[in-house]
Amino acid sequence: MKETLRLLSQVRQEGRKNLLETEAKAVCREYGIPVARTELAETQEKAAKLANEIGYPVVLKIVSPDIIHKSDVGGVAVNLKNAEEVKNAYSSIIKNVKKHNAKAKIKGILVQEMAPPSTEVIVGATKDPQFGPALMFGLGGVFVEVLKDVTFRIAPVSEEEARQMISEVKAYPLLKGYRNTPPADIDAIVKILLNTSKLVMDHPEIKELDLNPIMVYQKGAKTVDARIILE
Ligand code: ADP
Ligand code: MG
Repeated sequence: MKETLRLLSQVRQEGRKNLLETEAKAVCREYGIPVARTELAETQEKAAKLANEIGYPVVLKIVSPDIIHKSDVGGVAVNLKNAEEVKNAYSSIIKNVKKHNAKAKIKGILVQEMAPPSTEVIVGATKDPQFGPALMFGLGGVFVEVLKDVTFRIAPVSEEEARQMISEVKAYPLLKGYRNTPPADIDAIVKILLNTSKLVMDHPEIKELDLNPIMVYQKGAKTVDARIILE
């Protein structure tokens, strides 16, 4: 709670509403929400050095208060396998972003552990004007974007409600396991829902939160993108 309070007041002091991905992930970490290891680089050389430390493959992402949907502007490069690929991706990302918005303020580039591909889920929170914060859950990609296969609960959610949320989406069989696809770690998702519930209850100034996506494995889960917007 302490680190989150400090970060949120710093963001407000700077006159911002959107937390940077690094800030949103620091908040998640404090609330026990697992996140992929993420470091900030301001130069190509530093990016390559961090990638060597983190271990390949890595992901590079733009960090800019002016860019919310990073992949839409060519701001994300995944599966980079060596220092040369990292340096090349670094300059292409900067080029793409500048082409999209010449005035975008660039804070640097994130170097991130690449989470192995897996079933992607989404946990979100929005504020209902009448009922306060509500949590959202669904499977990532087409399930949420095309099929709108998502479910909501008013926060705070109990463990039982969190389990209900997970089991009531239509795509649930994909998590439960089918044929030779092993079951995903449902308990890890329950924990993320409960911790997100606590986070938004503790900090009513959070207007929107998006953990999109979270990779879920047979054991454990990892948030690879986190967005938090303040009121
Ligand atoms: P945005 O949502 O702002 O476009 P994301 O950070 O979600 O950007 O990245 C876009 C996609 O790239 C994600 O949905 C995910 O599929 C993939 N991705 C991003 N970061 C990672 C990572 N660390 N490990 C594995 N895949 C990732
Ligand atoms: Mg995302």
